[in-house]
Amino acid sequence: MIKRICTKCKQEKDLESFYKRYKGKYYFSECKECFKERAKKAYKKRGLEHNRKVRRAWTDKHGGKEYYKQASYRFYWNNPGKNQLTRYHKNKKICRMCNRIRPGYKFVKNSNICKECQSAKNAN
Ligand SMILES: [Zn+2]
Ligand SMILES: [Zn+2]
Repeated sequence: MIKRICTKCKQEKDLESFYKRYKGKYYFSECKECFKERAKKAYKKRGLEHNRKVRRAWTDKHGGKEYYKQASYRFYWNNPGKNQLTRYHKNKKICRMCNRIRPGYKFVKNSNICKECQSAKNAN
């Protein structure tokens, strides 16, 4: 019986333990077990990349980086005790109409509606 040493695990194994390639003329240098192991890892890696893509698509759909910015403002806003509002956050207000957190100067004076929403309202 012809034996072959797997380049990966360095074990001597029967030819049967290796996958054939090119119509059985050649054999892979890795045994079946190592080959499967590598395929599994490659699959896992592909899965991770897929997840990343899905997450990016989700983020883009929900407003991209702006979404995270808003989410972090909202967190500070909703947890004022736990997290000291920075001066940066203190100057911000939540618009009653678009529900976005924006800097104070973007708001109509003494109102919880941002200028953008106000002008949109006026246009209607
Ligand atoms: Zn092996
Ligand atoms: Zn608004």
